[in-house]
Amino acid sequence: RRTRTIDSVNPASGEILARFDEHQPHEIEQALENAARAQRQWARVPIAERVTLLSRAAKVLRERKSHYAALITLEMGKPIAEAEAEVEKCAWNCDFYAEKAEGFLATEPVSSNASDSMVVFDPLGVVLAIMPWNFPFWQFFRFAAPALAAGNGAILKHASNVPQCALAIEEVMREAGAPSGLFRTLLIGASAVEGLIDDPRIAAVTLTGSTEVGSLVASQAGRQIKKQVLELGGSDPFIVLADADVEEAAAVAARARFQNVGQSCIAAKRFIVEESVADAFLAALCARVKDFVVGDPMSRDCNIGPMARANLRDDLHSQIERSVAAGAELRLGGHPMDRPGFFYAPTVLDRVTPNMPAFAEETFGPAAAVIRVRDAEQAVALANATEYGLGAALWTRDLDKARVLARRIEAGAVFINGMVASDPRLPFGGIKKSGYGRELGVFGIREFTNIKTIWIG
Ligand code: NAP
Repeated sequence: RRTRTIDSVNPASGEILARFDEHQPHEIEQALENAARAQRQWARVPIAERVTLLSRAAKVLRERKSHYAALITLEMGKPIAEAEAEVEKCAWNCDFYAEKAEGFLATEPVSSNASDSMVVFDPLGVVLAIMPWNFPFWQFFRFAAPALAAGNGAILKHASNVPQCALAIEEVMREAGAPSGLFRTLLIGASAVEGLIDDPRIAAVTLTGSTEVGSLVASQAGRQIKKQVLELGGSDPFIVLADADVEEAAAVAARARFQNVGQSCIAAKRFIVEESVADAFLAALCARVKDFVVGDPMSRDCNIGPMARANLRDDLHSQIERSVAAGAELRLGGHPMDRPGFFYAPTVLDRVTPNMPAFAEETFGPAAAVIRVRDAEQAVALANATEYGLGAALWTRDLDKARVLARRIEAGAVFINGMVASDPRLPFGGIKKSGYGRELGVFGIREFTNIKTIWIG
């Protein structure tokens, strides 16, 4: 059969940058065989030694930061300064687990009826990682640093629009001295994933991506009784109560929504604002958004680059048009930009209500939806009126009230007077249709382990 290809396209221009042949079945077979063999050896290497791989990966990432950042920006369009920060964060995450993994996975004594009993953390095997394009380095390293430290191997199926990043990640691990075969990138389409999930040499699956694909992958892995971690979509609320620092909230709101050209699972998407401060919040938000520099993402001044693909821009535009048709008021933007590439004008909608796509669906691009509410009770009710449950932000000067409300918000994380962001020290993940399982922190490293009881009579 004809070899299928995977294209790397510059979203700032629409030009094809490179074209790669998909890996063939015999290459996939070889990768699985090598990974299984390498992982069996790796599992026996003491963890103190395994983590040196992470320290070396951090070093490679830092040394080649500008090169990798440029690749990220070329392939998916985020502003270059954000791409550099992404590479830097991957290095931080590798260093973090290099330092902490041994303690996180240390044997835990437990008293029972045994003369001695304990819990140990053994690796599961080779994990299949299906990753998205929006943070093409970070999504992978967030999973891989703890998983490899725990003694697992990994096979990466990256999103089809970031093949150069996928190969660059392989280069990082090779230069860091990963044992041959322990980690491999496979350039394959989505249709090849089910065969991998079914393969006995794959022990577990992690997916960061849309809820739709999460449901498919979860059922395939479920049929094979394979452990999964799912990091899926979000429609994060950003609640601003009447007693908040509204100027500060609006400044953070602009970043929280428009960073990465709005293409982040934990971007604030629904701005739920008490009516008495809604005009002030909206004015401050619009002022910030008007100041954004839209343009060449390779330029250091740029805040907003192109969206990653033409179809993603079309989807966003349709959501905005349908919301306006249903009564939302357009304050800024609301249209694709008349220039090469997949640019969309930074958009702000006011008076959004739960029946509109800008509320009911995930909006994955530069568009903020403002929802006006009468009080904190209604704010929490609307924050929870979504099928998603990833992150949430809450702005108020009353911290006692904030702690109480935070417990009632249905999300994997609530940030009070701040922007939702991932941090290697803190667990990250969702509830409801945003997925299950956790990455990062101590909880993340234990996901792909066999939490094993040892009982001695
Ligand atoms: P996507 O379409 O779900 O793709 C994610 C990955 O799944 C890609 O590697 C994709 O490969 C693969 N895939 C697609 N269809 C598949 C299938 N039928 N079977 C197996 N694999 C399949 O998502 P995306 O558009 O790249 O990313 C945006 C979504 O990811 C948003 O919903 C966002 O919220 C979510 N996200 C979540 C988090 C989180 O941590 N919770 C973080 C970032 C993004 P192809 O490219 O080859 O189709």
